Amino acid sequence: MSALDGLYQELILDHSKRPVSKGVFEAPGGTITASHHEFNPSCGDEIDLSIAVDPASRRIERLAWEGQGCSISIASASILSQLVRDERMTVDEARARIGAFREMIQARGEGEPDEELLGDAVALQGVSKFVMRVKCAMLGWVALEADLAQVEAQRA
Ligand code: ZN
Repeated sequence: MSALDGLYQELILDHSKRPVSKGVFEAPGGTITASHHEFNPSCGDEIDLSIAVDPASRRIERLAWEGQGCSISIASASILSQLVRDERMTVDEARARIGAFREMIQARGEGEPDEELLGDAVALQGVSKFVMRVKCAMLGWVALEADLAQVEAQRA
């Protein structure tokens, strides 16, 4: 195991023990909200992820989730939440990151992930070598993608 792998494992463990943005969702006034439940039957992971988006700026103003599952699914949802929170990203920016994450996690350990887009989420690259765990890692990201689609449908 390389030093980097060790560092990544520690990051994943930290997030699985103390997940970011796990808790009750409260939407700020004037925002468009969406909620999505995603279930991964192959592992039993589930998540309810909610977002609030400002209709003018299209920024994700709030994100919160509840869920249970393996440490990969929890850590991945937590890392995603931190990215969204720290970068106050727009709907389009979030979509770009979901796309980059999906590409990384489906690459079976090949390729170079876009670290600028993915930040700490590159720590999960190793998961891509384990086909059975891909859905675990994708859980929160798929839920956010569904929320974004709901938000955009409400804006239309
Ligand atoms: Zn899992």
